[in-house]
Amino acid sequence: MELFTAGLISLEDARRNMLAQVSPLSDSETVAITAAAGRITAEAVISPLNVPSFANSAMDGYALREADFTRDLPLAVAGKAFAGAPYQGEWPAGSCIRIMTGAPIPPGADAVVMQEQTESSGQGVRILAPVKKGQNIRLAGEDIRQGASVLAAGVKLGVGELPLLASLGISQVSVVRKLRVAVFSTGDELQPVGEPLAAGQIYDTNRFAVHLMLDALGCEVLDLGIIKDDPAALRAAFRQADAQADVVISSGGVSVGEADYTKQMLDELGEIGFWKLAMKPGKPFAFGRLPDSWFCGLPGNPVSAAVTFYQLVQPLLAHLTGQQADALPPRMRARASEVLKKSPGRLDFQRGVFSRDATGDLQVRSTGHQGSHVFSSFSQANCFIVLERERATVQPGEWVEIEPFNALLGG
Ligand code: AMP
Ligand code: MG
Repeated sequence: MELFTAGLISLEDARRNMLAQVSPLSDSETVAITAAAGRITAEAVISPLNVPSFANSAMDGYALREADFTRDLPLAVAGKAFAGAPYQGEWPAGSCIRIMTGAPIPPGADAVVMQEQTESSGQGVRILAPVKKGQNIRLAGEDIRQGASVLAAGVKLGVGELPLLASLGISQVSVVRKLRVAVFSTGDELQPVGEPLAAGQIYDTNRFAVHLMLDALGCEVLDLGIIKDDPAALRAAFRQADAQADVVISSGGVSVGEADYTKQMLDELGEIGFWKLAMKPGKPFAFGRLPDSWFCGLPGNPVSAAVTFYQLVQPLLAHLTGQQADALPPRMRARASEVLKKSPGRLDFQRGVFSRDATGDLQVRSTGHQGSHVFSSFSQANCFIVLERERATVQPGEWVEIEPFNALLGG
């Protein structure tokens, strides 16, 4: 493991390095499915049932024995089967049963004819179309077999998964315990929202942004507030955070030259790499081990803090909770609809707005000023425009990569 890198380190190398050091949590807990949204499965979920659990009709119509079918010869209707109210009696040869969608197939029936292919009269029901054995019958276990794995371990539970568990009668599920994440901001200039600003002070954006993203990721957040650029205060904050959390996230004070006391504290307390990432925004970033937790040091500039959290911390937290799916949405190609200013040397995450052009291709434009302190760029954007490290200014019509925002950034 390379802790101190003299040159610039690529985002990919940084991400690989982080994930290689960290193993997923092994603690799990059992929760009701009504309280499990956003949680991650700790083990595979096995179906206790066949689905459907009994053969049933896929149509409103008539259940019959295929052998009884003669075109144009009416069949007597011997009874009715409804969803939740099966037909249970005998039914004579040459007759049929009126059946509704979802009703159990009456014993002996081997086909269902849809109502639209029949004609009722005083003599019974005439079938107007050919009949094949098995038609319009949903077989027991056709969808899910009892004992089959319906969800793997490491799956995030949401609208796609929890109703499935409900349909199987599974009321509780084993999930990875919530990550405890401590967050604080560093900087003598920072004021909490709601307080007046004195000369030279600014409001603390990063702790709020990180807190929101941690909430959205389902973490338990310990908010330790704003810590002054003071060695004793920083040491106390790091100690407390490390004792209480799985992951400690701070912002500010990790840039070179102005690495102030944060770097000094961290060298004293843990084994931390101070990286200069070849990405923009977000050059300085720190990652490593404190005695009892993992540490991520975000840059101070709010856009840099948000982008590094999104691109590096988000995959780390997903990995820690054992998630199998990619934490970040796939990238796509779009045509630049205007000039995108860029100088070679760093991977650029510009904030952009993508849409479809008249021919159906994706097109993307910039949100404008891309300074790492311009947080409004996020509120206007729906994607990152990801410009490769060596690329220079992009001309209108050139293809670029975009990465649509996920739910963390309102995608
Ligand atoms: P630093 O990395 O501490 O030198 O901070 C870099 C820049 O980001 C400075 O302009 C800081 O004032 C600003 N900054 C640091 N932390 C925050 C924060 N929590 N919210 C808003 N701006 C911040
Ligand atoms: Mg600072």
